[in-house]
Amino acid sequence: MSTTAVPFTATILGSPRIGPNRELKRAVEKYWAGRIDRGQLESVAATLRRDTWASLVAAGLDSVPVNTFSFYDQVLDTAVLVGALPARVRGVGDDLDRYFAAARGGVYGGEEVVPLEMTKWFDTNYHYIVPELGPDASFSLNPDKVLKELEEACAQGIPARPVFIGPITFLALSKAVGGAEAPIGRLAELADIYAELLGVLADQDVSWVQFDEPVLVTDMLDNPAELVEHTYARLGALTRRPAIFVATYFGELTDALPALAQTPIEAIGVDLVAGSADALTAVPEISDKLLVAGVVDGRNIWRTDLDGALSTLATLDRANAVAVSTSCSTLHVPYTLEAEPDIDSALRSWLAFGNEKVTEVADLARGLRDGRDAIAREIEASNAAITARKGDRRLTNAQVRNRISSIVASGVQRGSAERRRVAQQDRLPLPVLPTTTIGSYPQTSDIRIARADLRTGKIDAAEYERRMNAEIADVIELQERVGLDVLVHGEPERNDMVQYFAEQLDGFFATQNGWVQSYGSRCVRPPILYGDVARPEPMTVRWITYAQSLTDKPVKGMLTGPVTILAWSFVRDDQPLADTAFQVALAIRDETVDLQSAGIAIIQVDEPALRELLPLRSEDKDAYLRWAVEAFRLSTSGVADSTQIHTHLCYSEFGEVIGAIADLDADVTSIEAARSHMEVLGDLNAAGFSNSVGPGVYDIHSPRVPGVEEIEASLREALKAVPVERLWVNPDCGLKTRTTDEVTESLKHLVAAAAKIRDA
Ligand code: GLN
Ligand code: ZN
Repeated sequence: MSTTAVPFTATILGSPRIGPNRELKRAVEKYWAGRIDRGQLESVAATLRRDTWASLVAAGLDSVPVNTFSFYDQVLDTAVLVGALPARVRGVGDDLDRYFAAARGGVYGGEEVVPLEMTKWFDTNYHYIVPELGPDASFSLNPDKVLKELEEACAQGIPARPVFIGPITFLALSKAVGGAEAPIGRLAELADIYAELLGVLADQDVSWVQFDEPVLVTDMLDNPAELVEHTYARLGALTRRPAIFVATYFGELTDALPALAQTPIEAIGVDLVAGSADALTAVPEISDKLLVAGVVDGRNIWRTDLDGALSTLATLDRANAVAVSTSCSTLHVPYTLEAEPDIDSALRSWLAFGNEKVTEVADLARGLRDGRDAIAREIEASNAAITARKGDRRLTNAQVRNRISSIVASGVQRGSAERRRVAQQDRLPLPVLPTTTIGSYPQTSDIRIARADLRTGKIDAAEYERRMNAEIADVIELQERVGLDVLVHGEPERNDMVQYFAEQLDGFFATQNGWVQSYGSRCVRPPILYGDVARPEPMTVRWITYAQSLTDKPVKGMLTGPVTILAWSFVRDDQPLADTAFQVALAIRDETVDLQSAGIAIIQVDEPALRELLPLRSEDKDAYLRWAVEAFRLSTSGVADSTQIHTHLCYSEFGEVIGAIADLDADVTSIEAARSHMEVLGDLNAAGFSNSVGPGVYDIHSPRVPGVEEIEASLREALKAVPVERLWVNPDCGLKTRTTDEVTESLKHLVAAAAKIRDA
C-alpha cells in the first residue's frame, strides 16, 4: 500500500445512533421544544458516541467508524461539511439551529424557513435530506463536526476511522435548483474540498478515512468508471493524506470496480450479501488493496452463516489483505436482541441485531486470522441455529402453499373493468365526483391514552374495544356532518399500518424494542417476517362492521397491501421475496372475502410502498414489478365484481412504477398528487390507466386548511386529464397527523368544492 497505514481486520461501516433506548430521539425533540438547551443535548450525544465506540472496541473491532453519529442525517451533515447549505437557511445564526432549519424548517427571526426535501436512501427505509445546489452554490470546508468527534475518540483511545459520504454519491443524490446544471458536473470542484479535508485529517494523524459511495452500485450515473477514475486518482495522488477506504453497499459493483481498483486508494469495501465475490476475481489490481468484505448483513436481522461466510472470505486471497465487515452500516437494524425478552429461544437463535452482528464480524476476523478451529464453537452454534431454522415447523405451512398454487393456477383475475363498473353502480348509489378520505383520522390523545392503558394493564381488552368504538363513532359522525359520500372507520385501533397486521398474522414477530431510525428523530419498529404467513382469524371485520352499523352511507374497509407489508418488515431470506409476498397476499385476500361477507361493499388495499422495493438496477425492475402486481391482484381478486376495490399510493415520484399502478387494476386508485399539481394524471393516462382515480386535492402534510376555491381549481385541473365519471375527490393521504379542527374544516371545503363542480 502506498501509505504506511496498517490494514485493519475487523470493522463495521457505521452504526445506529438514535440510542439503545432512543435517547437521542428524546433529547433532540426536547431541544426542539425548548425544554433542554444545547449543552444538555450535546452531552446526551457525546455519551451515546462514547458508549458506542467503547462497545465496538470491546467486541473486538480494530477500526471504529467515527462521524457516523448525526443529529439528523448523514447527507445533511455532508452538506454542512462542504458548505453547501442553501441560501435560505444561511440567515439562521446558530449553527445547530441552522442545521435543524434545513432539516425540518420552522420560523426563525420571524421568517418562515422551508426545509429541504427528504427522500429514501437507496432501497432502504431510511430517509435522507436532499441537498440543493443552485447555479451560484460554492463549496467550502467546514470540518468542525468531524474534528470534534475525532478529538473525543482520540481522548478515549479509539482506533477511529472517520466516515463521510463520498463526493460522487453526495452529488448524485443532490438536486439542482434554480436552473443549475446537474450537480454531478461539479465533481472536480467538490473533489478539491475533499482534498482539503484529507489534508486536515492528516494533520490529526488520522490513519484511515472511509468514503461511502453506494451510488456506484446503482444505474444512476452515466459514466461511473470515469467519475471514479477522476475523483479517486486525484485524491489518491495527494502525498499527505490518510489511507483511503471507499465503501460501496446495497448491491454489486460492476463497471466501477475495475475503475476503483486502478486508482491509488488503499481499500475497497464490497457488499457480499447483496452481491457475489465472483466479480473480484477478474480484477487483478485488487492485489494491492485491502478488501473490506461485507459478509455480515448490515440491513436484515438474520444470524450469519459463519461457516459459509468464512468460506467466502477464503476465496478473497487475491487481495493484499482482507478485513471482515458488515455489508453496510448497521443503522438499519435495531441495537440488540437483548432488549427483546419475549422472543422464543428458537427464533432468537436465528437472529442477530446490531450488537450481535459486531460479534459475528469479530468472530469471523479471528477465524480468518487464526483458522477455523479458533472459532469452532461459534461455527457450531451458527450451524445448529441454521439446522434448527430449516427444520422449524413454522417455516412451512402446506395448506397455505397449496392454496396459493391452486388460486394462482386458476388465474388471479376479476371480471373486466367495465363489468365491475356496472355491477358496482347497481350496488352503490354514488353521486358523480364521490368524496372520500384515505383511511386514518386524527390520532387523538384519547386513542394514545387507551393504547398506553391497555399496555400497562390499566384497562382490559373489552374496555379498550369500547374506547376504540367510541372513536369510530366520533369519526363516523364527523364524516356524516361534513357530508362525505364514502366513509371510513378512521383506523384508531392501528398503531401502525403494517405492525397492526403483523401482530395478528402467523409467521410474524413484532419486536418490543426493535427501533430503527426512519428519518431525523422518527423511528419505526419493523416486524420480523420469519415463517409462512397465515391468518388465524379476521383482523379488521369487527371494527369495519361496527362503523357500518352506525351509518347508511357505505363504509370502506381498510387493509394494507402485501408489498407494503413486506417493504416495512424484516423479511425472511430463505425464499424468494415473491413467495413471501404471495403468502401475505393470501391473508389479505381472505380478509377481503370476510369483509364482503359481512356486507362491506368497498375495500381499500393500500400500497404506498409499491415503489420502495424497486430494485436499484434496471435489469431487475421488471421481474419485481411483475410479482408485486401479481401479489396485489392475488390479494384483491377473491371478491365479487360488485365489490369495489380501492388502492392508495403516495410518496410522489411514481415515474418508474406508473405502468404497474395501471396494472394493479383497482377499481379506484387514490394517489398523492397535490404537491405535483396533478401531473401524475397525465402519466397515468399515458400508461393506459382507465379506471377511476382520486388524485389528492390537497396536501395533508401541512396544517394549512385549503380553501374551497383552491380545491375547486385542483379538481378543474384534474378534469382536464380525467373525465368526470372517473374522478373521485379525496385528500392526498391519511389524516392521522392532523388535528380534528383542521380535518373538519378541510373536508367541509372539499365537499363544497365537489358540490360546486357537480352543480355547475
Ligand atoms: N390508510 C392509511 C391512512 O390513511 C394510508 C397511509 C399511507 O398512505 N401511508 O393512514
Ligand atoms: Zn398515503
